Amino acid sequence: MAKVVLNGIGKVYDGTVRAVDNANIIAEDQEFVVFVGPSGCGKSTTLRMIAGLEDITEGELYIDGELMNDVPPKDRNIAMVFQNYALYPHMSVYDNMAFGLKIRKTDKAEIERRVNEAARILDIEKLLDRKPKALSGGQRQRVAVGRAIVRNPKVFLFDEPLSNLDAKLRVQMRAEISDLHHRLKATMIYVTHDQTEAMTMGDKIVVMKDGKVQQIGSPLYLYNHPINKFVAGFIGSPPMNFMSVKLVEKGGQLVADEGSFEIIPTPEQAKKLRDYIGKEVYFGIRPEDMEYTQKPVVTNNMQTKVSIIEPLGAETHLYLSTKTQQLVARTAPDNKFQIGDTANFIPNMEKGKFFDKETEANICEEVAAS
Ligand code: ADP
Repeated sequence: MAKVVLNGIGKVYDGTVRAVDNANIIAEDQEFVVFVGPSGCGKSTTLRMIAGLEDITEGELYIDGELMNDVPPKDRNIAMVFQNYALYPHMSVYDNMAFGLKIRKTDKAEIERRVNEAARILDIEKLLDRKPKALSGGQRQRVAVGRAIVRNPKVFLFDEPLSNLDAKLRVQMRAEISDLHHRLKATMIYVTHDQTEAMTMGDKIVVMKDGKVQQIGSPLYLYNHPINKFVAGFIGSPPMNFMSVKLVEKGGQLVADEGSFEIIPTPEQAKKLRDYIGKEVYFGIRPEDMEYTQKPVVTNNMQTKVSIIEPLGAETHLYLSTKTQQLVARTAPDNKFQIGDTANFIPNMEKGKFFDKETEANICEEVAAS
């Protein structure tokens, strides 16, 4: 299999629209790399440049150490699975899977061997004679993956392959693709706008925004050490809470004033925040890092009002309002809240983050960008 290296890759459409800017990304051999970000951030364009479906405006693309910029797609030894499956409606499942090999003039017995092997891996052996219209969405998706497997490519590329499936099937196919990755030991690059897919499937996640790579790392690294407010807010569901706070000095102590309550940074955070005294920053805290307390405490007490209650069984999400902001907390299901209740929460300051109001950079932590 293969290592994929993007070295300062950029894409400008029609000389004017910058879709991707200076992307430096490495997919190691056998790694599962997920490009994630909101719609329009440039993830599909980046994938399509790897596939050879879009010209590369700037930078170099290497697969297995070979420069690929000008190599035609068919010679890159890559297989791509699309969101819309792109199956031929008039062909059987077998012929759909065999098609790519036939046009490459692969030996007939070899085609049969590879199609049967892929069908076995994907558990679609019984469907080989059917036409796509006689398949469910999940089965069509498997055929599309099967068509990629028979090519025995160096790299698999997936472009939002599960978007057309219902929620339950998506969860199942997610697990199937992860399992396939382990069995095939292939390098896979996967594009999605869904942070849950990124977190659950990726060995490595590349978070993109406005054509720029924001941060690259393992799912938990990004979750725990986001480089900026965007990554902090994009990875995690429900998302991290952000509060505008003003940093002031009170009795020799640094305090983050929210307006209706005060938060005391840890001594390590306070050291990094000294330059911000008198300024506003964002305080970020994840919904699970706020602890409900029945009795208000003296310091670090976030007083809120319960505005929405979402019981999920294993946990309950509480939507809370302060004087100026909306927050969400994960709480135990046995807490008996009512809408309109006053609820006090203590943030776990070891987990709290502070972000620069202008650059949105994580102020208090030294974080690896990749
Ligand atoms: P994503 O996959 O993250 O949703 P895309 O890579 O499809 O984003 O698009 C990135 C940006 O490039 C968007 O602003 C989009 O409008 C623009 N874009 C995509 N394809 C083209 C094209 N063929 N011509 C001009 N602009 C394009």
